[in-house]
Amino acid sequence: MILKGVGASPGIGIGPAFLFDNLKIKVLKKQIGEGEIEQEKRRFVRAVCDAEKQINQLLIEIPDELRRHSGIFKTHLLMLRDPMVYDRTLKLISDERINAEWALSKILDHVRRLFAQIKDQYIRERIEDLEYVVRRIQNLLSGNPSMDFSQLEKPVVLVAHDLSPADTIQMSKGKVLAFVTDVGSRTSHTAILGRSLGLPAVVGTGDAMSSIASGESLIVDGLAGNVIVNPDSRLLKVYRDKQQHYIRYQLEVIQHSNFPAETLDGFRVKIKANIEFLEEIPSVIQHGAEGVGLYRSEYLYLAHRDLPGDEELFHTYKEVAERLSPYPATIRTLDIGGDKFISSVSLGDEINPALGLRAIRLCLKESELFRAQLKAILRASAYGNVKILFPLISGKSEIVEVRRHLEQAKEELRRGGIPFDEGINIGIMIEVPTAVVMADSLAREVDFFSIGTNDLIQYSLAIDRVNEYVAHLYEPLHPGVLRMIQRTVMAAHEAGIEAAMCGEMAGEAMYLPVLLGIGIDELSMNCLAIPKIKRMIRQTRQEDCRSLAQRLLEASTAYEIRKELLEFLVSNFPEDFDSTQGMYPDFAGRDVYPLNS
Ligand code: PEP
Ligand code: MG
Repeated sequence: MILKGVGASPGIGIGPAFLFDNLKIKVLKKQIGEGEIEQEKRRFVRAVCDAEKQINQLLIEIPDELRRHSGIFKTHLLMLRDPMVYDRTLKLISDERINAEWALSKILDHVRRLFAQIKDQYIRERIEDLEYVVRRIQNLLSGNPSMDFSQLEKPVVLVAHDLSPADTIQMSKGKVLAFVTDVGSRTSHTAILGRSLGLPAVVGTGDAMSSIASGESLIVDGLAGNVIVNPDSRLLKVYRDKQQHYIRYQLEVIQHSNFPAETLDGFRVKIKANIEFLEEIPSVIQHGAEGVGLYRSEYLYLAHRDLPGDEELFHTYKEVAERLSPYPATIRTLDIGGDKFISSVSLGDEINPALGLRAIRLCLKESELFRAQLKAILRASAYGNVKILFPLISGKSEIVEVRRHLEQAKEELRRGGIPFDEGINIGIMIEVPTAVVMADSLAREVDFFSIGTNDLIQYSLAIDRVNEYVAHLYEPLHPGVLRMIQRTVMAAHEAGIEAAMCGEMAGEAMYLPVLLGIGIDELSMNCLAIPKIKRMIRQTRQEDCRSLAQRLLEASTAYEIRKELLEFLVSNFPEDFDSTQGMYPDFAGRDVYPLNS
């Protein structure tokens, strides 16, 4: 029997099934008497405190490879005390005279209904975090001990309806070979953590819990998204070979992470990392990045109920600068609005938030907020190699305004005798089509460009990047997109500055030859993508990529480009693009094979 799901973490895991029934607790409604209300409230408060202790303990014990994800648990801590959960539970206990478990379930149902209306899939899926938090409190209320995977006697493949990030951390200590869940998607936290731990995983199978019995033999193919139940000896042999092949491939890829990213004919590309949290810095270094090309600074604001204070901003940026030094830390100023919101800045209802008060526009309006951030970044520049990157620039007048604020911030620091790097480099994200058209003029105003393809594609093809209905139209290989990238790089070079790319396209292996051919100076990406990209760079000749890019830039449809590019990939990188090994999805979830589709 084969169960089909989503390959959430690559690799092959083979072993006996262990069914983890974490939905065991049944929440029952209990009506309580007037005299029991205070006691029930105390029971709830105690459970919340215990949950806090458990999560804080997890944060202490979190293994190094997962440290960069500790933001997930910090969010869970905030949720425990969120008025929507904490205050409302206390209120429901006394208003409706019900037990705390039932009050929590009612709140969760209500929030679930609200979340179901959210269009953005990523945000909609964050309801799962609240589910984990509520389940943790309910478990504590009912005295249910949590499962300790380190107690497992033999290696197993874990099968569950759903796993929380905390369960996933537990797995790092135990003998878990792979995991399978009924629900979940590639972007669920459990899938993300699974990838960081290198555990093969298939999620979203729908009915694994009811179709698999404990002890049955399983093959988890996290590459193809399949779970094979009770395979025969022939299939077992095929998958054992596949497993060995994948392990060898991974080892070889990792060996390349600390070599320079230089093609066979001597073209050197800077490879940097995109980060959202401080905790990711060890991973940046381990994966062989030469610094951070994009620090999405808004995440520090997103984790706060109020605005972070000046000192907190400074200390965070200083730490980033110091820990990366001598490599650069490129701090992007606040990019909120669009699909990211913070409660401390009210944006009003917008019909088209992606075209609304977002990123630099918001900062130029909220100038105090902006200058506070600029001062913190400038102060941090005295402690390392800091660059500032401004998002969503559409033309020169915004750069003039940005510079005016920057000068004012510098002047205030000078007056206070506070040190900073007077020659700090400033760059702009090229992600609005007019910035591409005006790239020659903008290049004279700044020290570097960084192409944000996530937004550049969204704005130039008029495809909402978070709308699943048009996701299939989101096309990095559109000839218009490739020409915009080329135009930006050429304009930068003519003005003697560097052009980087920090959108997702930079870390996607299949686009690499085109970007090398266009002559990009720097690629900044998710840390996990670095070893493979470096290895590919070291195996190729820029000369070949240049003639490929020339041909592709002359094509008139994405289809022609894709076809020719795939032929190049299969013949130049047979290890990474083997057409006999099945599908290879790109980041929009499109299958790259078969070649002639
Ligand atoms: C981009 O738009 O490509 C980018 C890197 O920025 P973000 O994804 O944060 O909008
Ligand atoms: Mg962007």
